[in-house]
Amino acid sequence: MHYYCNVCGKKYLINELVWRCSCSNFLILKTKGVLKKDDIINERYSLWRYEKALPVKLDDSTVTLQEGFTPLAKVNWKGIQNYFKVDYLMPSGSFKDRGTVLLINYLKNLGVKKIVEDSSGNAGASVAAYSAASGIECDIFVPESTSRGKLVQIRLYGAKINLVQGSRDQVAQTAIEKSKKEEDVFYASHNWHPMFIEGTKTMAFEIWEQLGFDIPDNIVAPVGGGSSILGLYRGFEELLQAGEISRIPKLFGIQAENCSPLYSMFNKANKEFIASPTVAEGIALQKPIKASAIIENIKASQGDVEIVTEKEIVDALTHAASIGYYIEPTTAAALAGLSRLYSFGKISEKETTVTILTGNGLKASDKIDGIVDSFKDSIH
Ligand SMILES: [Zn+2]
Repeated sequence: MHYYCNVCGKKYLINELVWRCSCSNFLILKTKGVLKKDDIINERYSLWRYEKALPVKLDDSTVTLQEGFTPLAKVNWKGIQNYFKVDYLMPSGSFKDRGTVLLINYLKNLGVKKIVEDSSGNAGASVAAYSAASGIECDIFVPESTSRGKLVQIRLYGAKINLVQGSRDQVAQTAIEKSKKEEDVFYASHNWHPMFIEGTKTMAFEIWEQLGFDIPDNIVAPVGGGSSILGLYRGFEELLQAGEISRIPKLFGIQAENCSPLYSMFNKANKEFIASPTVAEGIALQKPIKASAIIENIKASQGDVEIVTEKEIVDALTHAASIGYYIEPTTAAALAGLSRLYSFGKISEKETTVTILTGNGLKASDKIDGIVDSFKDSIH
């Protein structure tokens, strides 16, 4: 197994500590799908039940917080039967734990003692949690505007928080510079490192297993850096290679209209994309590193990229809470997108649709309080 670059073709051994290619492109870990129904280890109620498909193995030294195997709930969303993949019920409160557990164990096995990561908050909290459990020292760089709940979480796990002014992309640049300056510090970026997708692909395995070894017609997820969409595609692609399924579900990535570079790329918009602030902080990336791969995956699945307004996000957030799902605004963007997809006829009521609930509302209560107040006149 090795990492390779699809721009210059360079290969790297899997035990090399690299986070990108020498040509500056991102690296890919190309795995071949091997997981069969009978390979599932039923007594493990975590993503480790799919160990056969994972590049990191579970043994006595593996750090795990029993992540994964989250509920797939049957939900009536505004009169239509749907499924929610309740991935906010993870150890650190977001789906990022799937990727983090793979990345941190991989780095720990290579002897890494100190890491730097940048995040809009959820990945930072997740990396801080698994670093704490692994005894790895970590520095997390986040935008100044990050929800307080996420900052408290990161601090309590024992990581050092670095608040950075400016855009999400400037936060990443600051973290990269810091990792270059210090010796023996690895830039453990969830957006760059190929090992992260190896963990998020387990979402696809769980949906397949929980639907009785079947696949849905559509999957809807918020998309920013792409760790959910890329993971879902990879997981279903592996099941296809293993002969367990016959097609990949349509993948729909939802962006906030205020920050929608992938929507512009997908629709080949000619005018230059301009970002403005959005309540969906988890997907507010102006320059997603893996944009080309995300677009490629969505197109290959015959899915689409949709955008939603701030008001639609707040409306979806409020409605989700009214039926018992307390989610963060980034996750609400996916549900706002779900409503749009139905109203535009892009998905049908007769089809099976799963929406990924990526992040817990408790992490963003301070912001939720503020935004719901500011939109209250328009919500019924
Ligand atoms: Zn390269």
